[in-house]
Amino acid sequence: MVRMTVLASGSRGNSTVVSSTRTRILVDAGVSCRELFKRMQAAGEDPRTLDAILVTHEHQDHVQGLAVTARKLGIPVYFTEATHRAWIRWVTPRKRMTYAEWLAERKQQAESRAAAAANPEPANSDTNEREAFEEEQETLSADDVKAKPDPAALPFVEYFTAGQGFSIGDIAVTPFTIPHDAADPVGFVFEAEDVRIGLATDLGYIPANAAMRLRRCDVLMLESNHDLDMLRDGPYPWSVKQRVMSRVGHLSNNAAAEFLEKGYDGQAEYVILAHLSESNNLPELARVSAEHALRDRMSLLGNRVLLATQDEPMASILL
Ligand SMILES: [Zn+2]
Ligand SMILES: [Zn+2]
Repeated sequence: MVRMTVLASGSRGNSTVVSSTRTRILVDAGVSCRELFKRMQAAGEDPRTLDAILVTHEHQDHVQGLAVTARKLGIPVYFTEATHRAWIRWVTPRKRMTYAEWLAERKQQAESRAAAAANPEPANSDTNEREAFEEEQETLSADDVKAKPDPAALPFVEYFTAGQGFSIGDIAVTPFTIPHDAADPVGFVFEAEDVRIGLATDLGYIPANAAMRLRRCDVLMLESNHDLDMLRDGPYPWSVKQRVMSRVGHLSNNAAAEFLEKGYDGQAEYVILAHLSESNNLPELARVSAEHALRDRMSLLGNRVLLATQDEPMASILL
């Protein structure tokens, strides 16, 4: 069974769990670790069973809880290299660690892991490692300020490249480039057990490559960020309005609707509208706009429109 749970969606934090029977992936960790765990538990998901975290891009609303969550669970984080570099710059604004230094440290870690592998320890070394990590966190959080862990430290980092598929457990992942003002932003398609899930938020428009990737999805999670009139008349400074509306900003209700009407194949069971702005949109405007675009294709079995929310997890979708 494939299961998808949107834990949070919007400019104050984004995070979604995609899982097969065997593998569980967290896409973005845009709220605090504590909040993520709380929401996962509320949605019936066990944080300790997560296998990996995937990052779409380095904006704060996608990485706020990343380092703490990865360290607490001892699981790998998958980035593109450019996103990882940008993230390191973001968490270490005073350049406590340059990319070259991080690479050197990573090489050293790989060497010591290789040495450890050549000289294997008892079977449960993984558990030991995780426990050691948790202990470290607890000890450090006490009051030893000097020994605070490097904010960019992650247990494991894996790189992927947009356009090149890879697997995590039995979930096939295809990252694809999206137009957004970040270092190397991506959307994802996940495939497992004959179910296909497409995620595309934080994009200024939908380019042909993204439209192609989003074909044949059983679940389509699509940004419907703002209502153009509300954005124009709303509280943001003009420069921010321009940024949001630009080709590397966010997808409007109109743009999402246009895609749903003309660029989308109508195959999904669920269409999830996501990353709704709290200042420049209303859930009902986004819904009406999408439902109007899908008017001839909505049924009990197809194209049901759901709205992802900022403050609480959505009910899990089971496929
Ligand atoms: Zn975002
Ligand atoms: Zn963003």
